[in-house]
Amino acid sequence: MHGLALSDIMAARRAIAGKAVETPLVPSPFLSDRAGAEFLLKLEICQPIGAFKLRGAANAMAALSDGTPGVTCCSTGNHGRGVAWAARTHGVRAVVCMSELVPEVKVEGIRALGAEVRIIGRSQDEAQVESDRLVAEEGLVAISPFDDRHVIAGQGTIGLELLEARPDLEAILVPVSGGGLVAGIALAAKAIRPDIRIIGISMDRGAAMHASLEAERPVEVEEVVSLADSLGGGIGLDNRFSFALCRDLLDELVLVTEAEIYRAMQALYYEDRIVCEGGSAVGAAALLAGKLPGLKGPVASVITGRNVDMQVHADIMQGRDVRLGGMLLKGERYGP
Ligand SMILES: *Cc1c(COP(=O)(O)O)cnc(C)c1O
Repeated sequence: MHGLALSDIMAARRAIAGKAVETPLVPSPFLSDRAGAEFLLKLEICQPIGAFKLRGAANAMAALSDGTPGVTCCSTGNHGRGVAWAARTHGVRAVVCMSELVPEVKVEGIRALGAEVRIIGRSQDEAQVESDRLVAEEGLVAISPFDDRHVIAGQGTIGLELLEARPDLEAILVPVSGGGLVAGIALAAKAIRPDIRIIGISMDRGAAMHASLEAERPVEVEEVVSLADSLGGGIGLDNRFSFALCRDLLDELVLVTEAEIYRAMQALYYEDRIVCEGGSAVGAAALLAGKLPGLKGPVASVITGRNVDMQVHADIMQGRDVRLGGMLLKGERYGP
């Protein structure tokens, strides 16, 4: 099958020690009160790039064979940042390919982390062609954001840290996009505690892993705008690892609406003073929406990243309407 085991995740932990942060696990009194059970937050926002993706990227970098001329990826989001940071730490050349349509701030963000940026064409697909060419013609190694065994093992180190800190966890709530994060965490946690529950959370529109699990094979979904922009995108029709792992190890995959994510971002800020992306707030969103009945606790929710557009964040905190692409989200001031 996928051939990934707890030993791969323990090896990843040694490989990324000192390169990614062992993040804090802190209680949320407010969410604990709402859950009627101890509710903890795993703060991956404390990573130097503001998101957990550094773990997988650093492990992939450590696994490169000597003499590899460099690495490449197409992500302009947290994976691109993770690859850029880890490549610099390892002294490896990183080329991030993106389309002309990517906003300048994102281009600069990746460049500032030391990666080479190559701007090609007017779509993600054209950027992908260039990345594939770098692999075929220059021998660079492509690093997938979620469908790579080293990346999955790197993200799985979160599961080890969680169970070391709290061997008594009943459940772990994990945001799901391509499924590399939840696959790694589930693999680690269930190897140590087979009875632990792993609950994935996605937004209710454009959730590729959810649609694929329903169809029992990887399928494409239409990409739509969402407050949880880090959770968009497909899982790849030729998915090799993350789909099978999610199918075998996920206990549940819960979906939340944009309004629920909006409110959870407010709650995390006003109650716990946490600034995070919509994609990080989905666990709290599911809880506050009453979509996680019967939790006994303790429960840990992974707060995956903080790289949110600060104008959008400010608008939400003020209860203003938010316009994303063609979607208008009605604002509402926060009140518990
Ligand atoms: C990538 C990402 C996720 C989802 O990770 P997958 O491995 O693709 O499921 C969740 N939250 C944030 C902030 C991310 O950057």
